[in-house]
Amino acid sequence: MSVENVIIIGSGPSGFTAGLYTSRAQLNPLLLTGNEIGGQVALTYEIENYPGFPEGLPGPELVERFQQQAERFGTRIEYDYVNEVDLTQHPFTVRTQRGAAYKTKSVIVSTGAAPRKLGIPGEEELTGRGVSYCGTCDGFFFREKEVVVVGGGDSALEEGIFLTRFAAKVTIIHRRDELRGSKILQKRAFENEKIDFIWDTVISSINEGETGAVGSVTLENVKTGETSEFDTDGAFIFIGHVPNGWIFDGQLEMEDGYIVTDKNMHTSIPGVFAAGEIQDSRFRQVASSVGQGTMAAMEAEKFLLELEDTPYEVVKAEMLGHELVLA
Ligand code: NAP
Repeated sequence: MSVENVIIIGSGPSGFTAGLYTSRAQLNPLLLTGNEIGGQVALTYEIENYPGFPEGLPGPELVERFQQQAERFGTRIEYDYVNEVDLTQHPFTVRTQRGAAYKTKSVIVSTGAAPRKLGIPGEEELTGRGVSYCGTCDGFFFREKEVVVVGGGDSALEEGIFLTRFAAKVTIIHRRDELRGSKILQKRAFENEKIDFIWDTVISSINEGETGAVGSVTLENVKTGETSEFDTDGAFIFIGHVPNGWIFDGQLEMEDGYIVTDKNMHTSIPGVFAAGEIQDSRFRQVASSVGQGTMAAMEAEKFLLELEDTPYEVVKAEMLGHELVLA
C-alpha cells in the first residue's frame, strides 16, 4: 500500500482550505469528504460575514468555490466517510465506510460539528416529519404553516428569520428571557412581524398530530413550572452543536468532545493536526475555520519536510519535548 503525505478528513471550510494549501505545496493531498460535502456551510442559506463577498453569497456556492479552488491545485477528493483511524502507529491508518484503507504520514482533522439534539420524547421519531435541524433544507415544506424554533443563539435567529420566507408564523422558544444571538440578528428578528417569542420556556415533548407529522409541542415555563400544549406544524431545533470527534476517542487528547490543539493546530500526536469546529467551540466562523485550515496545512508541510531526513520517532520525541501551548 502506498503511503499518502497528508489525508484531510472533512470537507468544510477548514478542510478545503487545508486542501488548497497542501496541494499548492505539492503534497498531493487526499481529502475525504464525510457524508455531507461542505458540512454546515452547505446548509446555510446566506453567508454575509465572509470577507471578500460584500453582498453575501449562498452557503452551497461558497462550498463549490472552496472545492474548485482546492481541486485546481491538485487536491484529490473522495466522497467517503472515515469511520476508523489508528494514530498509534506511524504511518497512520485511515479506514472508511466504503471499505478503503489508507496509510498516511500526516492527518488534518476537520470533521466539524453536528446539530445538538434536545433529547426529548418525539424528537427522534418525528425527525423528517416536522422536526428539523436545517431551515434551508426543509423551510420550503412549511409554506403558510406555523413553526416553532428552539434556541436563542445566532443560528436560531438567523434560521427563524429565514423561515419567515415560507411559514405564516414563526415562534421562537427560548429558555431564558434574553437572547444570546448578535444584536443585528436580534434587531431583525424583533422587527419581523411574522416572528413571536416565548420566553423562559423549554419544550418537554414533541407530539404527533392527526396527519402523522408534528401537531404540537408541550411547553414548560422554567420559572413557574407551568406546562401547556402549543399547536404547531414543525419544530426547528437550533441549540448548538456537538463536535464530530468520536473516531478519535482514546487516541487524541479531547475536552468535552473537542480535539485539544495548541495555537499552531497541533494535536497531542505529532503529525496529526486539527482545524475548524472540531477543535474550536468558541469562534466557529467560516473565516476562523479557513484561518485554522491554513495554519494546520502549513504546519503539516513543515512536519513532512522534517520527516524527509529524520525518522518519525525522533521528530515525535522532539515535538513532544515541547509542551502543548494551549490557545
Ligand atoms: P449557541 O450560540 O451555542 O446558542 C445555542 C442556543 O440554544 C442558546 O441560546 C442556548 O440557550 C440554547 N440551548 C442550548 N441547549 C438548550 C437546550 N437543551 N434547551 C433549550 N435551549 C438550549 O449556538 P448557535 O446559535 O448554533 O451558534 C453557534 C456559534 O456559531 C456562535 O458562536 C454563533 O455566533 C455562530 N453563528 C454565527 C452566525 C452568523 O454570524 N451569522 C450564524 C450562526 C451561528 P442559552 O442562551 O440559555 O445558553
